[in-house]
This record gives sequence, C-alpha cells and structure tokens, in this order.
Amino acid sequence: MVQKVVIIGAGPAGLLLAHYLLRRCNYNIDIYERRRDPRLTDISSDRTFPISLQKRGRKAIQAIAGLEEAIAAQSVFCEGTILYGKKGKLRQIPRQNPVLTIDRNRLVSILLKHLNETSSPNQVKVHFNCECTAVDGTAKTVTLHPKEGDSFTADYDLLVGADGARSQVREYLAHNAGFTCSQNYVPDAYKSVFLSRLNPSAGVELEPNKIHVYNLNNQARMLMVPQPGDQLHGVIIFGAENNPLEGLSTKEEVHTFCQEKFPIFGQLMSLEEAEALLKRPVARVLTVRCDRFHEGDSMLLIGDAAHAVSPSIGQGCNSSLEDVLILGQLLEQYGDDWDQVLPKFSEQRVPDAHALRELSDYTFPRQKFLVVEFFLRTMVKRLFHRWFPDWVKPFVFDLVLDTDLPYSQVLSLSQGWINKVKRSST
Ligand SMILES: Cc1cc2nc3c(=O)[nH]c(=O)nc-3n(C[C@H](O)[C@H](O)[C@H](O)COP(=O)(O)OP(=O)(O)OC[C@H]3O[C@@H](n4cnc5c(N)ncnc54)[C@H](O)[C@@H]3O)c2cc1C
Repeated sequence: MVQKVVIIGAGPAGLLLAHYLLRRCNYNIDIYERRRDPRLTDISSDRTFPISLQKRGRKAIQAIAGLEEAIAAQSVFCEGTILYGKKGKLRQIPRQNPVLTIDRNRLVSILLKHLNETSSPNQVKVHFNCECTAVDGTAKTVTLHPKEGDSFTADYDLLVGADGARSQVREYLAHNAGFTCSQNYVPDAYKSVFLSRLNPSAGVELEPNKIHVYNLNNQARMLMVPQPGDQLHGVIIFGAENNPLEGLSTKEEVHTFCQEKFPIFGQLMSLEEAEALLKRPVARVLTVRCDRFHEGDSMLLIGDAAHAVSPSIGQGCNSSLEDVLILGQLLEQYGDDWDQVLPKFSEQRVPDAHALRELSDYTFPRQKFLVVEFFLRTMVKRLFHRWFPDWVKPFVFDLVLDTDLPYSQVLSLSQGWINKVKRSST
C-alpha cells in the first residue's frame, strides 16, 4: 500500500530523505518549506554559510546514483586550513583526506534539482513559502500556512520533522507526547560574509583549496571557505554579548574595521560587501538534545530538529545526512515496517547524537596551551597511525572526519581528551 509521507523542512535532511524514500517506490511525499525556492534566488540573499562534508555525509549521499557527482561539481575540495596570525604569521594545517565544501543553499538547490530530475510530481511535491504552524498527532494532520492564500490542513501516515533546530514538530512532541528535550544557545553568534578570493590590484590571491581562518584575540574570528568561481563564503564569529560590529554604522566604518582587524580579508572586501555585512542580521546557533526521536509508528525527527549541535567540528549536516543513511538501512532490514523501524532508529541514533553533542562542545579547546597540545597529539597520532594502523587510532578530530565509526565509539576512544577540555572550560 502507498503511504503518505509529509516532510516538514526542505533542508539537507528532509530532501535526502525524499531521495531515499523514492528509491523504495511505495511512498507519496509532500515536503513543506517555509522559505522560498533557493533555485530562484541569489545564493547570498537568504541566510546561508559554507558546509564541509566528510566521510559520513558523503557516504549517505553516495547511495543515490549521480548525486555526489552533481554536488562535487559545485563544490571545492579543501586540503587543509591556513591560520593567519598577527604580523602576517601563517600556520598550515594539512588534511590527509580533502573535505568537500559547499554553500548550504547551493547544496539544497542541487538536492532539489536532482529530486525533480529523478521523480515525477505524482511521487513528490515540494511546497515552498509554506510554513507548518500546527500538528495534530491524534488526527494525523498538519496545518500549513502559505505566504499567499489561506491556511489548510494535510493528512499523513508518517510525519517527519526535518525542520531544523527550531522545529515545530518537536515543539508538538515536547508538549503532547512527553518528549524530554532541551535547547541551548551556543555562546557564539555569527554573520555571513561573501568575498572574492582575488584582489589583483592589491596583489592578494588566497589559496583556492584551503580554508582560511583569522583569529582575533579569542573574541572574534573569521573563517572563509573557497567556492567555485573564485568566491569565498564564510562567517565572522564572535561572542553573542560582544559583537565587534555593533558600534559601526556606515559601510566605510565596517570596511576600515575589517582592514584593521582582519587584514587578509579586509583587502578582499568591497564597499558593497561592507554595506551588506552591516545590514545582515546576527545569527545564533541553537543546540538541541532529545531523549528519543520518534512517537509511535507515525512521527519522526531527523537532522537538526532532533540533535542540532555547535558547528565547531562541522558535524551538524554530516550527522543529519547520516540519519537518513541509517533510516534507509533500517527500512531495508524491517521491510518498511515503521512500527519497528522508528523505535530502532531512536535506539541506535540517540546515543550517537548525545555523543556528538559532547564531541562538538569539547573537541576544540579554547585555552592556548591546550590548543598546542591538541595539534601535537593530532600530528603524533597521525604519524603512529600510519606506522601501526592496527595499534594506534587517529586523534579525535581525525576520527570524526575521516571515519564513520559511530560517534559514541569516537567519544569512548577520546573520553580522556574530552574530559580534559571540559575541566579546562569550567
Ligand atoms: C555557521 C554554520 C556553519 C556550519 N558548518 C557546518 C559544516 O561545516 N559541516 C556540517 O556538517 N554542518 C555544518 N553546520 C550545520 C548544518 O548547517 C546543519 O546541521 C544542517 O543544515 C542541518 O540540516 P537540516 O536539514 O536538519 O536542517 P536545516 O538546514 O535547518 O533545514 C531545515 C529547513 O526547515 C525549514 N523549516 C523550519 N521550520 C519550518 C516550518 N515550521 N515549516 C516549514 N519549514 C520549516 C527551514 O526553513 C529549513 O529550510 C553549520 C551550521 C552553521 C550555523
């Protein structure tokens, strides 16, 4: 029997899930997304930022024929990071396995395009500018509010909340199904930044396949990632209570600020971008922790809606895509019996999501002496792992990025380090 699936949220998790379900043939899918269609707008006009995908996220994408190739064609593979210090000092941190970097909205556009190309409108419909405003788990309906026109309801056999950290579906579950969920803001806030990688008149040309980071006194940093067409997309990150741009009111002031405080990026910033940066809103990152991800056989949370984390080790999207991979494996194993699949998904995924939270909060230390120790340990473990692969495992960050060991295993292998960083930050 064909089942009616409603997915709230056309982000990376919701769209990849639609791809997976379509391969199984017995689903009719409606996706409701409150934003406009990203394919019809300039990439920088909606909130966006660069995402790096590694082993876990890429493995999930590889299951859909042709999808990874389509994403790779609009990505840049970065082979390491350059840290810029004051007085022009540089530190190179190479990566053995390049990471695929792509703008979040571009990734979403490719997932949408591929979905259109590989399915018919009878199988899947994506409704943009259409916000889910209420859920009724007893009647199995959702209320949708389009930007234009009247609200309406849609019924479902299975409802998937893929609606990000501020999930409406999770709100319903927390208030009506006894879910224990907590939400916290990370201390940092950010603004998106868009630059060119080149400024021939100033003789500046940043390397095309490296992530570029400039740290300003532990209070603020700029992280810029190369994108196709000699673009750099990134963010300026600062303490939420300590926005260095707050006192600035003109594009000239922002331009001068960036040239003085982040000279390598200031030289690449036009006055137009300085003005846009001034106007862009400050964004905060909300983290989410839930004790389960499903209700009965008809409601499920995936991605940030279930387990949003700090972006410090770049795992939010990787883990969201991995959710879909694991769900796909369970559907295969239990012959699409959601009554069995959903509890198994929570059982397998909740411990990993909680471990990921610890890893995201405590892999990177803030204290200078621990930062040095972190890099030393990483280098030494890389060397010994190369010589004795069966005896020595890579250090925590490499385990997260370059393997698909469950996050709970990575945490137990790295618990000593995580505890040390945790103690240092209390
Ligand atoms: C600055 C920054 C850098 C990051 N870098 C990385 C990185 O390098 N690597 C990595 O793996 N992760 C990274 N992340 C995390 C990553 O962006 C998220 O984990 C990922 O986007 C989660 O995907 P999702 O589909 O679950 O949720 P989202 O991407 O949040 O998508 C949810 C969608 O649901 C829609 N929606 C919300 N509410 C409703 C509603 N009521 N009705 C209808 N639609 C709704 C939203 O508009 C949105 O399109 C970063 C995050 C930030 C903030």
